[in-house]
Amino acid sequence: MSSPRSRPPLGLGSAAIGAEEEALVLDVLRRGELFRYYGNDPANPPPMVATLEREAAARFSVPYVLGVTSGTAALEIALAAAGVGPGDEVIVPAWSWISCFTAVVRTGARPVLAEVDASLCLDPQEIARKATPRTRAILVVHYQGAAADLEPILHAAHRRGLFVIEDCAEAPGATYRGRPLGSWGDAAIYSFQHNKPMTAGEGGLVATRDLRLYERAVRLSDLGQYRPHHTQITPAREAAFAGGQSRMSELTAAVALAQLRKLDRIRDHCRRLKTRLVTKAGSLDGFSWRPLADPDGDFGFELYGYASSAAAATHLRERLDAEGVWCQKRTGTYPQYHRDYVKSGQTAHPALSPFRGLAPWPAAGYRAEDFPRTEDLTTRFVALPIGWRFTDDDVDHIAASLRLATSAAKA
Ligand SMILES: *Cc1c(COP(=O)(O)O)cnc(C)c1O
Repeated sequence: MSSPRSRPPLGLGSAAIGAEEEALVLDVLRRGELFRYYGNDPANPPPMVATLEREAAARFSVPYVLGVTSGTAALEIALAAAGVGPGDEVIVPAWSWISCFTAVVRTGARPVLAEVDASLCLDPQEIARKATPRTRAILVVHYQGAAADLEPILHAAHRRGLFVIEDCAEAPGATYRGRPLGSWGDAAIYSFQHNKPMTAGEGGLVATRDLRLYERAVRLSDLGQYRPHHTQITPAREAAFAGGQSRMSELTAAVALAQLRKLDRIRDHCRRLKTRLVTKAGSLDGFSWRPLADPDGDFGFELYGYASSAAAATHLRERLDAEGVWCQKRTGTYPQYHRDYVKSGQTAHPALSPFRGLAPWPAAGYRAEDFPRTEDLTTRFVALPIGWRFTDDDVDHIAASLRLATSAAKA
């Protein structure tokens, strides 16, 4: 390939911000109603968070949706709403975002790490291996646009009476067997942080079909309160308890709502370019695509392929980079056992630690050598992001560069 090509801009929802977001934000500002529960007319609370919740419920096929301040807040709330706490264990894929581990620790429960399979999502077989009488829940992460294998996961979970939380932060609008992610488990969370397929800078959702969980989530997000807006959705049944404060603002909801309304357009663009890229690349020497539990349901914004070794993956990345191809993963996900908070095993207060009694630390189950498959898979992949601003030409260049780089590797 000849002259270096300029790289197309990355970004999904963040690269699609336009007149729609502007109009809804201006509407909030002009009314001067920035707080969801009351504004100028006490009898008529402002509409943005409530509308976002209603449209997200319809779009993701989950009846009860609550706007909160972040995906991490949503995880902490969903776990606590499900009754997860001290003495419990939660199965979490070893390859996952920081908060999938820390949110469990902050409930007082112990995260139990499990291997991922080649889809880079929780291996369903791990549930039988990792479940104990203390296991209370499974946190399923739909990694970078694609579903975990939900059917065997739900089967294994329900046989054992375990609660399933779907983390859809990286896969809103993706599906499994034709049904939206988030509609399969007992609860789901979404994030609107800057890097996600739809964004408001920050923000998140808790979604559930369980009324008790919904009421508990509202109370956890609003200082234990349960206001009239929610009473209209379902009357209070629980005694009040002390909650935190993670309420979503009207401004966040205005941006998130505009983004939700363009989510399918962004997804369809990514899917079309993904299909084009894979078709144009054809079969490649020493390189195989990430197998997915449901390829048709993939959002399609990041393609993963495995090289034959970690060294081969590094060489491949160097060659692609020289051709002007983005080839680093676009998420902060990495194995939990390599993170500082796992290596230290510390919590804010020692009495809150779910790791007490597991000496010496790091104990078995929290060390790299306990996860040979996750280690192998996550050191051998090359990640190829697709963005909202990518064109057919951009993708053709990636495919051609991939063919060149993999054949050079063979020579
Ligand atoms: C981003 C992310 C979160 C947390 O979302 P924030 O809004 O950044 O707190 C949780 N889980 C996964 C898988 C994520 O990618």
